[in-house]
Amino acid sequence: MRWNRWKVWSGALAMVLMAGPPAAMAATAKGDVLLVPDRVWTAEGDSAHAGWAVLVHEGAIAAVGALNTINAPANAQRIALPGTTLTPGLIDLHSHVFLHPYNETLWNDQVLKEPQDYRTLEAAAHARATLMAGFTTLRDLGTEGAGFADVSVKRAIDEGMIPGPRLFVATRAIVATASYGPGPRGFRPDIDLPGGAQEVSGVDEAIRATREQAGHGADWIKLYADYRVGVDGSTQPTLSLAEMKAIVDTAHLSGRPVAAHASSDEGVRLAVEAGVDSIEHGYGASEATFRLMKQRGVAYEPTLTAVEATAQYFEHYVPGQTEPTARMREAEHAFRTALKRGVTIGNGSDVGVFTHGDNWREPANMVRDGMSAAQALHAATDVAARILRQQDRFGRIAPGLRADLAAFTGDPSTHIDDLKQAAFVMKDGTVYRLPQNTP
Ligand SMILES: [Zn+2]
Repeated sequence: MRWNRWKVWSGALAMVLMAGPPAAMAATAKGDVLLVPDRVWTAEGDSAHAGWAVLVHEGAIAAVGALNTINAPANAQRIALPGTTLTPGLIDLHSHVFLHPYNETLWNDQVLKEPQDYRTLEAAAHARATLMAGFTTLRDLGTEGAGFADVSVKRAIDEGMIPGPRLFVATRAIVATASYGPGPRGFRPDIDLPGGAQEVSGVDEAIRATREQAGHGADWIKLYADYRVGVDGSTQPTLSLAEMKAIVDTAHLSGRPVAAHASSDEGVRLAVEAGVDSIEHGYGASEATFRLMKQRGVAYEPTLTAVEATAQYFEHYVPGQTEPTARMREAEHAFRTALKRGVTIGNGSDVGVFTHGDNWREPANMVRDGMSAAQALHAATDVAARILRQQDRFGRIAPGLRADLAAFTGDPSTHIDDLKQAAFVMKDGTVYRLPQNTP
């Protein structure tokens, strides 16, 4: 069948796409593979286990434990990962593979000037960089003017045509009429601008957009609860409570969760009242609002790195050298408040605002702003998988789960910066990256 053909080829394709791949890349989803790092961090508990190993059979984790307790078949391929800690493949719950850093090209110019065909090829390159960095799953929250092209990128990855993480896609995202860029503010009023998202006014249009996006392949529905629509350009609520409820109810009827962009306290509160499943950004949310999120079981993606990156591009911020900007302090305050109130915090970075493959910056920033390294690693593995409703498929190292794995030199469960450089990456049992000096 088609699936098998692609699986067989995926290893070879990964070889072609990597510079100077070692012979051991032949590891595919088929055979047994015994992974022998220095330590294994399973996502159950906080500390890594020295001397443990992991056996992979037909793309799934077959065993994990002390090396001498694992019964590996005689013909199993053994991959030594000296000096590393093996972790579940990492998850970023807020990405935009159709965007690249705004200091390269402003967001308006990407949406207005880059053809969708070109942006789709960019997305494929971004997906590859992400996977090679140890991130085996993304929730990609909107194509930002590239239509439903994320569904095709996801398909090409699933078929093994191009290397990339598992994608959970949101397609176009839903916004209130004339609330989202490019323009209309700042542009002459007599030109038709392409939309960075799908505009709706009224409950009927909100329902129609949700059904259209679901029909075209959206796994999640993304809505914008607020945006910079105030008379002074300040962030104010956009969609009404009734419109958001219509989106949430329609999405939930078809089994799709809803993610809400919301920065202001009012925007977050309205989105939570409407029944969304996750809040993105939430920088201005009050303690009372985070308490409400905790009560309702709404997850939070703090996107600290988006704020840091834009501060670097546009506010002369230099990490470690200049004081955090007012916006960075606001984001840090929200993050610490959510942490204190026990809100479920998932790793979501808004990558695309900054370079794809640098997704490690978000867990590092979560540690900078108050989490332990192990907490940040949980946020990027088992907690993120739970937010995706995929905890029975991946997110931990446990028998029966898919073999989505990464290894990092050192131990990121005690030193989060060790996530900077992946030494080994496996997705669904296929090896995509091996340490440089593997024989
Ligand atoms: Zn975003």
